[in-house]
Amino acid sequence: MTPLIPRALIAASTLLARNLLAAGPTALPDDPACTAEDRRFMARAYELAREGVASGNAPFGAVLVKDGKVVAEYHNRVNALTNVVHHAETGLIATFSPRIERTTFAASTLYTSSEPCTMCCGSIRFAGIGRVVYGVTESQFEQIITGETHADHLGSKEVFARTAPKVKVLGPLMEAEGLVDHQKYWPTHVNPARMKRTN
Ligand SMILES: [Zn+2]
Repeated sequence: MTPLIPRALIAASTLLARNLLAAGPTALPDDPACTAEDRRFMARAYELAREGVASGNAPFGAVLVKDGKVVAEYHNRVNALTNVVHHAETGLIATFSPRIERTTFAASTLYTSSEPCTMCCGSIRFAGIGRVVYGVTESQFEQIITGETHADHLGSKEVFARTAPKVKVLGPLMEAEGLVDHQKYWPTHVNPARMKRTN
């Protein structure tokens, strides 16, 4: 009996599905509220993310900027310090807050190469940082890390809206550039703690 769908067609569609998965998420458009200056400092955040990878850490970088000038820079140091809370944003705040006035935090923008996780949203809130611009959307890079998508993903915009509505949050910005860094890094650096959402 002749199959309804030829085997060659099934094989081709399976291959196409695999290739689409392997290709990963497609970059989302830039937040239209971002400025040319935002783009300049986001480029620096991506550079820092790559510096993090060069020193054995995951691809996350952050820059704190006030009045067009860099106040502090940091990249993920979870592996370097064997300290799970040293994400780029929380690490920057923990390292530099003894030397930064609260009024400076309030008047600054934190550029982060990837959307802050819930822990980093808390750090940003308690530092009193006034504005956040992120590069890659968390649900996008989580898809690369875990291979899964979650329709009920809790993003930073909702976290801030419900816990610290005065914090202005913009993003994504130049997401394609950041996605490339994640796609290069994660296939050979699986973090077991992030493989299951329940962890
Ligand atoms: Zn974080």
